Amino acid sequence: MLSEEEVSKYKEAGKIVARLREDMLKSIKPGQHLLDIANKIEDTVFKAGARPAFPVNIGVNEAAAHYTPQIADTKVVNEGDLVKIDMGAHIDGYLADMAFTYCSEKSPLIDAAEKALKAGISVIRPGVSISEISAAIHDAIETSGFGPVVNLSGHGIGRYNFHGDFSVPNVRNTNEKALKEGEVLALEPFVCESSAHVDESEPVEIFQFAQSKPVRSIDARKILSLAEKEYGGFPFPRRWLVKHVSPFKIKMALLELEKVGAVTKYPVLKDMQGRKIAQAEDTIIVADKPIVTTRI
Ligand code: MN
Ligand code: MN
Repeated sequence: MLSEEEVSKYKEAGKIVARLREDMLKSIKPGQHLLDIANKIEDTVFKAGARPAFPVNIGVNEAAAHYTPQIADTKVVNEGDLVKIDMGAHIDGYLADMAFTYCSEKSPLIDAAEKALKAGISVIRPGVSISEISAAIHDAIETSGFGPVVNLSGHGIGRYNFHGDFSVPNVRNTNEKALKEGEVLALEPFVCESSAHVDESEPVEIFQFAQSKPVRSIDARKILSLAEKEYGGFPFPRRWLVKHVSPFKIKMALLELEKVGAVTKYPVLKDMQGRKIAQAEDTIIVADKPIVTTRI
């Protein structure tokens, strides 16, 4: 069970990203730079007294996850793009994980992702099994006439741990694990025109502390220390490092850290057939009346 104080920290982190969803859905326009969008969101999280739990992911069209703007990124939002914005904030390790998809036009894929998310949330109660939630999501996606991305999942959430100890697939399964009151999870259906599978691709912009290792270069040591302490063991992008290390040295240092297993990398995950994907995500605390922390 969670204490009242823990619940209020989850809610506070959730409110920050919930407001950002409202603000960004109103302000994003074709022509805007992805880098400006990411900076604005991350700055807002800091100003609200929280910390980003990972760099803002902005997956455009077939890129489903793990793309974050590069150091001198020039990409902009184009008319008709499906722009998935996935953000996380934490207060004292209590996390909110939230995503939505922006498009300048009406998009049935986005409606389907939002509906599937709602369907998943609607069955949450103490005692619900993972398989029931997954079935609700899968059914809703198929009812909309589309298919899920089969290898991306929702997940449990713990303090300082945003993948928890279980996953919630967006496809039917037989996992009878029952959720208990006070457990926290994120549901995140990804929807494509038909059932899809994402694969690792370039670029690699996101890294995460894995373990302390002796490394030779000063820059690698500096980055490893930032990864562990400044970013609290949470994922970070290359672009956060530029105020500490020059871009060329960042590249060399990250290669060294990766080679010795001190950091993990997160390559972009995309549909290799180039089909568009929409995503919607909320964080929920299990209760008789579930608390969706990431909605106002
Ligand atoms: Mn997320
Ligand atoms: Mn998530």
